[in-house]
Amino acid sequence: MTGLEYEIVLERYERELAKFEAKHPHHCRRCGGAGMIIVHENLGPTGGSYGAKACPVCIGSGFCPLCGAELVSDEDTDAGKCTTCGWTEGMSSVTVSFPPAPEPPL
Ligand SMILES: [Zn+2]
Ligand SMILES: [Zn+2]
Repeated sequence: MTGLEYEIVLERYERELAKFEAKHPHHCRRCGGAGMIIVHENLGPTGGSYGAKACPVCIGSGFCPLCGAELVSDEDTDAGKCTTCGWTEGMSSVTVSFPPAPEPPL
């Protein structure tokens, strides 16, 4: 990616971010509203693997990653859900979470 391409991608990213902020002004800053955070595991000479775990700030404490309201558990599935904004555990984070930042050119 060239510097110019990066600027274009970055601009698009910032627009997405602004839209996301406007829609979810109280989203969790730690995980970006995804409810999960990516952790690096087993970083050794052979490389490492990525894993996702529940965000300790929101889901881990029983709060909605998108609006910050307290989560209740669904009687049927026992999954956490938010009665305020409709977020449910296991909901595709791709559609709701914070857009990922583009990688700067090397
Ligand atoms: Zn979070
Ligand atoms: Zn919510």
